[in-house]
Amino acid sequence: MSSPQVVTRFAPSPTGYLHIGGARTALFNWLYARANGGKFLLRIEDTDRARSTPEATAALIQGLEWLGLDYDGEIHSQFARADRHRAVANDMLSTGHAYKCFSTSEEIEAYRAQARQDNNPLPFQSPWRDADVDTHPDAPFVIRLKSPREGGVAIKDRVQKKVSWAATTFDDLIMLRSDGTPTYMLAVVVDDHDMGVTHIIRGDDHLINAGRQSLIYRAMGWDIPEFAHIPLIHGEDGKKLSKRHGATGVHEYAALGYMPEAMRNYLARLGWSHGNDELFTTQQAIEWFDFKGMGKSPSRLDFKKLDNVSAHH
Ligand code: GLU
Repeated sequence: MSSPQVVTRFAPSPTGYLHIGGARTALFNWLYARANGGKFLLRIEDTDRARSTPEATAALIQGLEWLGLDYDGEIHSQFARADRHRAVANDMLSTGHAYKCFSTSEEIEAYRAQARQDNNPLPFQSPWRDADVDTHPDAPFVIRLKSPREGGVAIKDRVQKKVSWAATTFDDLIMLRSDGTPTYMLAVVVDDHDMGVTHIIRGDDHLINAGRQSLIYRAMGWDIPEFAHIPLIHGEDGKKLSKRHGATGVHEYAALGYMPEAMRNYLARLGWSHGNDELFTTQQAIEWFDFKGMGKSPSRLDFKKLDNVSAHH
């Protein structure tokens, strides 16, 4: 049996310019797709209407274009797919994998306050999970996933290897808010499934989301894509990357005169290696790119290295 065509994606939330971490994520997904004759998709995760702006979408696209990371097909808007997300949530209601929760935010806060007082580590347990549908009031509700209460949740990750959590780690995830809008957790799974994404490469700040998302895949009976969660990039001082660390937006590097080819070489080395090779062309990176070369510890920005790479391209 032949394996399905590789499909990767870059799925930024349009809340700012293309920063160095996002550019590295995009590059890894692009390299993996190109290395395997697959497809690299671009999905703008604009579901959060309050935080998403058209300027940020334009800046992200511009950053990718400057870096030369061409995407296949059209640009997908997550917001435009909200009807499909709602349909999946309703499907899960009808199969009993989800339920309507009428708890108010005051009730949830009171539960959490009590749980803190009792030193109870369990997440919020909605009284509506097992309620009789006939008892449902005519009031606003959210749709929650029935997360398992027993056993564990495990994912296979090409970088982190096997990762597992106790089932009780996870809330009954909200999938649709009371205004009918889908949450990130639902939208991302439905979109990745519908777009045939086979490999999800992203920052390891999303690792726990992979656990949550696998519950939604399971409930829908869908194949779970392969994950590769890459360690975040730190500043030269070893601390989490922030504005303080100088240029962190790709456009700032462009303005400083760095060339896209050098930038691709430098970004690829932030978390991936091929033996001791520091300098390579993009074509070589495409030939060599694999999960084996991805490290498990955070990589550090190093402007001396960038200058060195830059001098050789
Ligand atoms: N939209 C998410 C972000 O920008 C990424 C989602 C994902 O890769 O699954 O952090």
